[in-house]
Amino acid sequence: MKRILVTGGAGFVGSHLCERLLAEGHEVICLDNYFTGSKLNIEHLMDHHYFELVRHDVTHPYFAEVDEIYNLACPASPVHYQYNPIKTVKTSVMGAINMLGLAKRVKAKILQASTSEVYGDPKVHPQSEDYWGHVNPIGLRSCYDEGKRCAETLFMDYHIQNKVAIKIIRIFNTYGPRMHPHDGRVVSNFIVQALKGEAITIYGEGTQTRSFQYVDDLVEGTLRMMDSRDDFIGPVNIGNPVEFTMLELAQEVLDITGSKSKLTFLPLPKDDPMQRQPDISLAKRELQGWEPKIPLREGLKHTIAYFEGLMKSHPEMV
Ligand code: NAD
Ligand code: UDP
Repeated sequence: MKRILVTGGAGFVGSHLCERLLAEGHEVICLDNYFTGSKLNIEHLMDHHYFELVRHDVTHPYFAEVDEIYNLACPASPVHYQYNPIKTVKTSVMGAINMLGLAKRVKAKILQASTSEVYGDPKVHPQSEDYWGHVNPIGLRSCYDEGKRCAETLFMDYHIQNKVAIKIIRIFNTYGPRMHPHDGRVVSNFIVQALKGEAITIYGEGTQTRSFQYVDDLVEGTLRMMDSRDDFIGPVNIGNPVEFTMLELAQEVLDITGSKSKLTFLPLPKDDPMQRQPDISLAKRELQGWEPKIPLREGLKHTIAYFEGLMKSHPEMV
């Protein structure tokens, strides 16, 4: 049994990770400032004997005797990370410094939730870990992209200079139950719009692509990375390589929900990547054959069922 700190544990991905770590018999400290996360996401874990919740902001130092740290604290949707871009940079950079400082002090192993955004609007397709990316340093997405890039740098430097045991994963678009209904990401937007019979908002012509990973596949890859051999530190891509256009995604959501919503076309946001697809050969090789198991249609069904339930139990949230 390990004592494990999950920063951003009340968020979408963090809540699934806390749940899985508890199920495996570990003690979990879930740290969150509830900027985009919610107690609702972890309500079902509150009574668990080995679960502890801490309201804290990672831009401030935190101390706890732990064996492992999963550093997830950071708003992930463009709407939320652009709301206060300076705070987003602080969360990524100062959060990394504080959590790496903690890892150094208590000799914990620490995993960073990095992102496919470090590749920017990629000129190489699919993206493998040795690609350095094509990132605008002064655009709307920069607070997130550059913050995460700097966090990777800090992880590497703490590893080289201070021998901190690190792991870096680069997460590609992930979806599933407990996404925030208003966080503006495409899967939650389309599902909520379809369920409410509102127009489906396609940005641009809808021909841009993303590859969507169901959250359970991400959690599995994340745990395998934490447990991988000591000299494998990453970065490693964790994503689903099956690529869809936004028009195809909209069609799937309409099919499954049986919604009569119409499509509406809105301007494409600035610096919106046209194509994104992970090369996951490194993860397959290093993480005991890890690969995503849940196809988009099945994952969408689970996610749609979650939002239908939320609309009934907490209509004010949707
Ligand atoms: P999320 O917004 O649901 O979760 C982020 C959590 O971090 C929230 O609970 C939020 O309240 C918390 N948080 C934000 N700022 C904080 C701060 N200063 N101090 C403490 N807590 C803070 O997003 P998510 O989708 O669950 O993403 C989790 C992590 O995975 C993020 O680091 C994100 O960058 C990364 N990631 C996610 C995706 C994806 O598609 N979901 C893709 C790439 C990377
Ligand atoms: N998108 C869209 N309609 C929406 C929300 C997003 O067409 O209501 C598009 C967006 O322009 C982008 C893709 O969907 O091309 C994925 O957007 P998301 O914000 O989910 O993730 P990211 O751009 O960070 O990959």
